[in-house]
This record gives sequence, C-alpha cells and structure tokens, in this order.
Amino acid sequence: MRTQIAIIGAGPSGLLLGQLLHGQGIDTVILENRSADYVLGRIRAGVIEQGMVGLLEEAGVAARLHGEGLVHGGTEITFDDTRHRIDFKKLTGKTVTVYGQTEITRDLMEARAASGAPTIYEAQDVTPLDFDGEKPRVRYRKDGKDHELACDFIAGCDGFHGVSRQSVPAGSIELFERVYPFGWLGILSDTPPVSDELIYINHERGFALCSMRSHTRSRYYLQCSLAEHVEDWSDSRFWDELKLRLDKEGRERLVTGASIEKSIAPLRSFVAEPMRFGRLFLAGDAAHIVPPTGAKGLNLAASDVHYLSRALVEFYREKSSAGIDHYSGRALARIWKAERFSWWMTTMLHRFPESSGFDRRLQHAELDYLVSSSAAAVAMAENYVGLPY
Ligand SMILES: Cc1cc2nc3c(=O)[nH]c(=O)nc-3n(C[C@H](O)[C@H](O)[C@H](O)COP(=O)(O)OP(=O)(O)OC[C@H]3O[C@@H](n4cnc5c(N)ncnc54)[C@H](O)[C@@H]3O)c2cc1C
Repeated sequence: MRTQIAIIGAGPSGLLLGQLLHGQGIDTVILENRSADYVLGRIRAGVIEQGMVGLLEEAGVAARLHGEGLVHGGTEITFDDTRHRIDFKKLTGKTVTVYGQTEITRDLMEARAASGAPTIYEAQDVTPLDFDGEKPRVRYRKDGKDHELACDFIAGCDGFHGVSRQSVPAGSIELFERVYPFGWLGILSDTPPVSDELIYINHERGFALCSMRSHTRSRYYLQCSLAEHVEDWSDSRFWDELKLRLDKEGRERLVTGASIEKSIAPLRSFVAEPMRFGRLFLAGDAAHIVPPTGAKGLNLAASDVHYLSRALVEFYREKSSAGIDHYSGRALARIWKAERFSWWMTTMLHRFPESSGFDRRLQHAELDYLVSSSAAAVAMAENYVGLPY
C-alpha cells in the first residue's frame, strides 16, 4: 500500500490533519491502534480557541459546533470566597467555545468516513521506519497479518504514549518535563452547570474547577493527591468536597446527580524538541503535554496541525520545503508560550504540598494583582483565548 502522508493516531491531531490535507487533494492513511468506539469513549478537553474553530470550519466539520457549542465571553476566578470575572470579550475582542473533544472527534470521524479516506483501526505494532531517508514506511499488523505502508512523510499524531516519539534515536531528541505533585479528580454528570461560565477556584482545601460540556452536562474537577484512588470517591463524597471549595452562591446553585464518568488525571508539563526528524513529524500530545488548567492541550494540537498542514501543502503545490523546514521552530515558539501560561495558571491556583507561608502570600498577591490590574487581566485573557498562529 502507498500514500502521501501516513498518519499514526486517530485522535484530534491525526483526524484534523487528515481532513485538512484531504481538502487540498493530498492522500493520507490513518493507522490507529484502538477501536473507533474506544477513541470516542475518552472524555477530555472542552474549551476551544477561535483559531481552532477556524480550522474546524476549514475542515468542513464545524456545523454541529456552531449549533451546539457554547460561546463564552469570560471566566471567573474565585479566591477568599469571592468571585472575580475576567471579561475576555471586552479585554481582547475574542471568545472561546465550549464543545467537547468527544464531539469534535465524532464530527471528524464522520467527515473522514464520508470522504472515503482510509482509517485503519485496531492496527497493532505500528512502527515508523526509514524516516531519516527518502523512502519512509510504516509497518503494522492487522487481523494477524503484517502490512507495510510506503509514504512520502509520516505524521506522528499518536499522543504522549505513542510509538512515533519513541522511534526517534535518543541522541536526536531533547525532553523537558515537570511533573506536579497532585492530580485532578474529574466527574461528568448530566446536571445543569453551576454557572454560565467556567469557575476556577483557589481554596485552602485545594483547587477546583467548574466546567461544562452543554447546558445539561457538567464537568467538575477537584485537586487531589496522587495517592488517591477513584474507587474511594463516591459521588456524594465528591459533591460534598466540591461544596466546601465553592463560594456561597455556588454552594446554593450547585445541582448534584449521578456521575457518568469519574477519573483521576496526573498533571504534567512536557516538551520534546525538535518536532521533525527527517520525514517524520510529531504533532499534538506526541510532542508536548500541558497541565489542563490553561485549557491548552487540544488547542495546541490544533495549532501544530495548522503549521504542519500548510507546510505539506506548500511542499506538494509549490515544490518548496521551506514550510517543513520551519515547522518545528514555528510550532515550538507557540508551544512554549502555552507551556508558560499553563504552568502559571497551575502555580497560581493550586495548593502545593511543599509551599511555605511565603509562597502562599505570593500566590495571593498574584491573584489579587490579576483581578485588580487591567494589564494583568489582559495578559491572562490574551493567553486564554489563544495567541495568534
Ligand atoms: C484526562 C485528560 C483530560 C484532559 N483535559 C483537557 C482539557 O480540559 N483541556 C485541554 O485543552 N486538553 C485536555 N486534555 C488534553 C487533550 O485531550 C489532548 O491534548 C488531545 O487529546 C491531544 O490530541 P492528540 O490527537 O494529539 O492525542 P490523543 O488524543 O492522545 O490521540 C492519539 C491517538 O493515537 C493513538 N495511538 C497511541 N499509540 C499508538 C500507536 N502505537 N499506534 C497507533 N495509534 C496509536 C491513540 O489511541 C489515540 O487515539 C486532557 C487530556 C487527558 C488525558
């Protein structure tokens, strides 16, 4: 089998890249090691920057997002039991859209199926080969048989645990990492959200986030110790703890109900440099991870795909390798700004087990500055709604 671009991974990065390239007449084959249902079952991101909305429009998959997505013009920050609103729309002229990653993935999968472009699910032992030469290929097993896919380029869109980054010789890649000493216990419930906008809470018992997927589906998170087990958190224990961290209005308005998903996620900052190795490119979580506090993971995956898709189109249309030569540098410049913002939000809002009285006073001063200085609020809003591509 032969294609122009072999894409490893059918998460949002791989599917969006496939759709954008298909729109430009470039052939792709996507190899995914899980089933389509498994990929759709993962509950993840939900806050989408305008830049990503534009890419989904370009890919022809934004109709449902525009019909069902919730446009948010701001967010709320709570500390000392008091809420403060950061007005994105007023400060930057931009908004964000709340629309679940699961729905984006479903829209992309349906568009790909309709286009007839191939996605091979449950492909085992996917292995990128010879990407340092002119004739890369990807080997995989499917239904007990070995296959080989010859291609011009390989796009490693296979997430943090994927095979693409691991296939790069250790001496050719540099890894930067910070692991945070806590996780997020998340719950999804078919209950109306406690507020029209997200509420970020700094509380002495730990951080909490009130988020949502729709007018009837809520997503809440609690900062928790990494030693916690999700089985020890009954729904009622979760709601009781959330109420302790909410302000008075939130406690009164909170509607509780049975959870439909509950999980603990560790928090990590991670970047792999560079993002190009000959004819292999990394995109999305395969190259970087941010703690979800800044709502940047999915949006960064989209910005990588923006740079990579344009670089590949330029390569085929204009016979120019300028775009692919600059892909890594362009993507990393934006990634590190999002890494900084996500680290800053995480540091400002969470309780760190080792923090001293001095650290906590500084954290309070940072929050106070954010809500009392228009320059600080603009800087936060600008990063939250997304820096330009
Ligand atoms: C629990 C959780 C909560 C999150 N919450 C948020 C949030 O609130 N906001 C936010 O912005 N971001 C959030 N993120 C991050 C966001 O979901 C990711 O940034 C996004 O999924 C990245 O997309 P991706 O396509 O690059 O990677 P992935 O979504 O990880 O997709 C990679 C795909 O590659 C496949 N794959 C892996 N290995 C192989 C292999 N060897 N061969 C073939 N296929 C393979 C995987 O099965 C997967 O389908 C969250 C992530 C997690 C884990």
